[in-house]
Amino acid sequence: MLEIRILADPDEDDGSGRTVEVRLSARPRPDEDPLEDSRLFAAGDRERIVAFVAEMLERHAAALPPPRLECCRRCDRALDPQAEGDGRRPFVCRSCQRVARDPRPAGPESAGEGVEVRFLGTGDAFGAGGKRQAAIFVRALGSRLGLLLDAGPGCHAALRAEGLTSDDLGAVVLSHFHGDHYGGVPFLELDAMRSGRSEPLRIIAPPGARERLAALRDCLYRDLSIPFEEEITEALPGETIGLPAALEGGFARALAARHQPEAWAFSWKLDLGGRTVVYSGDTAFSDELIAESAAADLLIHECTSLEALPGHTSHRELEEAASRITARRVLLVHTGEDVLGATGLAFERAHDGLRVVV
Ligand SMILES: [Zn+2]
Ligand SMILES: [Zn+2]
Repeated sequence: MLEIRILADPDEDDGSGRTVEVRLSARPRPDEDPLEDSRLFAAGDRERIVAFVAEMLERHAAALPPPRLECCRRCDRALDPQAEGDGRRPFVCRSCQRVARDPRPAGPESAGEGVEVRFLGTGDAFGAGGKRQAAIFVRALGSRLGLLLDAGPGCHAALRAEGLTSDDLGAVVLSHFHGDHYGGVPFLELDAMRSGRSEPLRIIAPPGARERLAALRDCLYRDLSIPFEEEITEALPGETIGLPAALEGGFARALAARHQPEAWAFSWKLDLGGRTVVYSGDTAFSDELIAESAAADLLIHECTSLEALPGHTSHRELEEAASRITARRVLLVHTGEDVLGATGLAFERAHDGLRVVV
């Protein structure tokens, strides 16, 4: 421990308050005698005081404890400054592998580097807490068009509630075929028809998307004819799909999720605007997904319940894995009633209308 104290009323003071004592004390190791040094100064002599402190630090550098760098948000450990870094992220905690600080300068949002993520729907299938169902808008800064991660029922209205419309979409990326994640697609199509969309709409989804989306549309609006081009890409697990150029490029990688097999569930890893965003979709806890999200700029992870629930991830599992989760920011979605009512969660809970820039 190192302590530097400036005493305004040292023993030698003549009572005028014009003298200060600068005192350094340090205990390099618990079993060693403390190191101490001090000197008197005139109270207003800042330059000499600063020079003295610098001189003392220099002189005792070898005996002083190594500098403690504040670590990440959760592991509470000091960082070893010799820890391996890659230049862009120079200090990584050896204990938990978290990135300690981000040397990336905070630039203006219009700089074109980074993505905005808007949480349109963060609820579960049951409408817990009155929240909308899954829909997350992701757009590279400076790009006119963004993509929609999942399209739960009512997502077209959620877009409008947040000042967006289907015209702002260049792609829709679906995690799986459960209604709370893809039931809103026909309404997006309707919305796009009404606005006279001419640009192609790309839908990137698990296998079977063409058949399932056509069946859903036919069920809701029989014989609906879409006047704009709709390009459906059925991804395979592990496949990397290039995103439309209108989104400023980037790609989406399909990661097999652990959910109900008939729903063909994927998690998605997006690379867009120079950022990495990982979205779990619906999945049981997966160490592979946690590894995929290592040092990602944002991990959006489902947290359906506090305790284990088949096919979903619980808060307890995420909490137990917290030291291995190295994404720069983690936001919880698909949150059920008990998670919404809980305090002291291990990670930040997203809410409808939340906008973040990473
Ligand atoms: Zn769901
Ligand atoms: Zn599901």
